[in-house]
Amino acid sequence: MVLIQEEEISVFSKKYQLSNSEILLIALNLNGVNSKQVKNPNVTRVRFSMKPEGDEDTYFLAVSLTKNTPFTYEKGVIKFYGKEIGKAGELQEDTCDSTYFRMGKNALTLNSNSRGNCRGCRFCGTYTLDVSPEEDLTNPENMRRKIGEIKKEGNLKDLSNMKNVGIVTGCFKDEETTLNHLIMVRKIFSEYGFKGEIVYIGSQIRSEESLDKLSKIGPFALYLTVECFERREKMMKPVKSSLTLEKGRDVLRMAKKKGIQTSFLYILGLDTLKSIKEEFPKYMGLITRHPVINLLQNYKEGDDELRAKGAQDFEYYLKARRKVEKIFAKTKMRPRIWENYRAPWSKTYNGEKLNGPKI
Ligand code: SF4
Repeated sequence: MVLIQEEEISVFSKKYQLSNSEILLIALNLNGVNSKQVKNPNVTRVRFSMKPEGDEDTYFLAVSLTKNTPFTYEKGVIKFYGKEIGKAGELQEDTCDSTYFRMGKNALTLNSNSRGNCRGCRFCGTYTLDVSPEEDLTNPENMRRKIGEIKKEGNLKDLSNMKNVGIVTGCFKDEETTLNHLIMVRKIFSEYGFKGEIVYIGSQIRSEESLDKLSKIGPFALYLTVECFERREKMMKPVKSSLTLEKGRDVLRMAKKKGIQTSFLYILGLDTLKSIKEEFPKYMGLITRHPVINLLQNYKEGDDELRAKGAQDFEYYLKARRKVEKIFAKTKMRPRIWENYRAPWSKTYNGEKLNGPKI
């Protein structure tokens, strides 16, 4: 738990020129929520929309479910130390195997190779979750059935208006299997009129040959799962950490040269502020979109020990946020709120209002 006291909200709000609700959203994301409504003991994460008190906008959150937090969710109300801070939508149990809409119905998150079966990264909470076999979308038959369900759920005639399909998934056997899967997704989604961008979130596509093929299948984006800069072998499964930071940057460089959109995923809380300041600028010129920065959440006992020195304090996250803003302020890249429900940004960036869809 990254504890924050009630009276600290206004102190940080003044110091960092942020609204109380923006600070509360960061605190809620870091600490998770307690709720008596969830009866399944295997559920470690929940999702819900929330409209903070006094805010015009509604946000979406995916947070850990824990008793060790000052936040509660009961009957659509979020409280902080017992005081109401916002209204929330329906509480959904997050199985991480689900496929769901974002950006209205213009984007889809597809967990096609069940993350619930993937193991090995210490910061990952997905493997405590239930895995449903029908959600394995690595074969065309299941994929077509799933698209049928998506169309029905979204009341969609076809997928021609969909702009983006993000493949957020567990590791594949090897690079070739990953490549073939991505090509299969493009082919099957095209059958339903999809012409939008496929975003691959992972680290298994590494060769120039694969990138070359992917640059030719239609709009494609590569979001490399960098995750952290320090203690990489300790934090990640070998198949991920085997891609060094330098090699990862080579992959992004190659991808960008081929006209692929590029970004990377990063978990805030695993590194010292010093390495955040030193490492983020190295990606300048290699990425076409702002990095997707997730706040480190606790899913099981002992997860707090993963936090880097200093990252037990709430202010670390505000300082880190400022450091990243300083690096990217001079570019046009800004976080896309609808793309990341665990971000340290929700309303503003370096003092500017963040526009665009939130959910
Ligand atoms: S690769 Fe790591 S972070 Fe991703 S699903 Fe597998 S264990 Fe979790």
